[in-house]
Parts: sequence; C-alpha cells; structure tokens
Amino acid sequence: MDNSLREEYLNIVATVREHVAEQLEFGFLEAETSEDEKEHPFSNLDLSALNDDAQSCVKCGLHAERNSVVFGVGNPNADLMFVGEAPGADEDKQGEPFVGRAGKLLTDIIKAMKLTREDVYIANVLKCRPPGNRNPAPDEVETCSPYLLRQITLIQPKIIVALGSFAAQMLLDTKTGISALRGRFHEFALAQQDDNAPTTVMPTYHPAYLLRNPSAKRDVWEDMQQVMALLNDK
Ligand code: SF4
Repeated sequence: MDNSLREEYLNIVATVREHVAEQLEFGFLEAETSEDEKEHPFSNLDLSALNDDAQSCVKCGLHAERNSVVFGVGNPNADLMFVGEAPGADEDKQGEPFVGRAGKLLTDIIKAMKLTREDVYIANVLKCRPPGNRNPAPDEVETCSPYLLRQITLIQPKIIVALGSFAAQMLLDTKTGISALRGRFHEFALAQQDDNAPTTVMPTYHPAYLLRNPSAKRDVWEDMQQVMALLNDK
C-alpha cells in the first residue's frame, strides 16, 4: 500500500474507532472482551500490526491534539531498549521518538556506548504528546501502557533503560523517584507472556533532565557502563 493510501486507510479507521468509542461511552454499544484479551491486550498482533493499531488509536483524550502517533523506532530484535516518557513537540511533528535536543543527547549517549540508534529500539510510555508537554496523567499511562508492554514482549530486549521517573515507575510498578531507583538493575516483571527471557531494567535520568542538569551526565554514564558490561555478559 503506498503512503497516501495507507494514511487515508488509517484516517478512516481512526474515524470509525472514534465513533465506536463514543457509542461505547454513551452505552449504545457493549464491548465484548474475553478475560484473555483483558489480561494480554494485543496478544495476537505483531509489531507492524500493533503500530497500525496505535496509529488510529483514540483510547484516551491525547488523540485529539496530536499530529503524530509516535510508536517507536529501531531494531525489532534489539538487545537494548530505551523507554522515555512521551513525545514532545519535535517528536509529535516528525513521528519519531527522541529527535529534539534531548533526542540528540540520547543519540550521543548511544554512540558513546559504541552503538547506533539502528542497533537499539527506542519508544515512550505514551505514544501521543500531552499538550504543552505536561506530565502524563495516570489514566493516560494506564490506557496507553499495553502498547509498550506488547512492544517489549515482541522485541524481548535483554535490558531496558528507563529514562526518567515516569518510565521507571511504570516499568517497575513503583512510586519511588528516579534518584533512588537509578544506579542499579531491577527486575522487569510486567511482561505479557510467561515464556519471555528475563528482562532487566536500568533506570536512569531522562536526557531532558541532563540538559537542565549537565552535572548528572556522569551518573548516567556510570549507569550506561553497567548496562554495557551486562550486555556483554548476557
Ligand atoms: S496516548 Fe496511547 S492510548 Fe492515548 S490515544 Fe495515543 S496511542 Fe491511544
């Protein structure tokens, strides 16, 4: 399918889904969802189908003001995955995660690890931009996180670097702040299927925080050195 046809198709799907979502909200339709679907949403979708689903998603209010759904980029078989919070203005414009100033810094960190953006996979907890770059709301994280969990299940990275508090708290199901979480590995326990190889999470500061606090770059580099050492061991 060429790009304009695909875009038209996704627009039609988004309109239909918006209509169905309204019907469900007002009680004119009842959703039939099996227990398995509730527990493991998207379990029948591969990465490409999951992306298509996200492109027309209207499950939370963030769809209303977005220009792009920022699904994720990189190697679908990556050993290392970076997970941030949500798209910003540049990402919303370009449809790709981490492309603004913070994105350039993340690219530099990846290069310093002797890797490229194409070697790793990069995604966010939220796929659509919160207006004005406000913090994600808890219900938005809850509604959108099944996309990320399915991405992790499909990619099966050995290590996830959680960038900032929101990603770390969602992935580790905790309310502890990033300063207390970073600097050591944690076990990722939210995989959607039991047969996945174990994934380890390293929380560290978000690149946007590093732009405001350059002295924290040293901490991040120490965290990435631990990641590189573990990657070489696994
Ligand atoms: S943020 Fe996530 S749940 Fe909300 S509309 Fe975008 S893709 Fe859907």
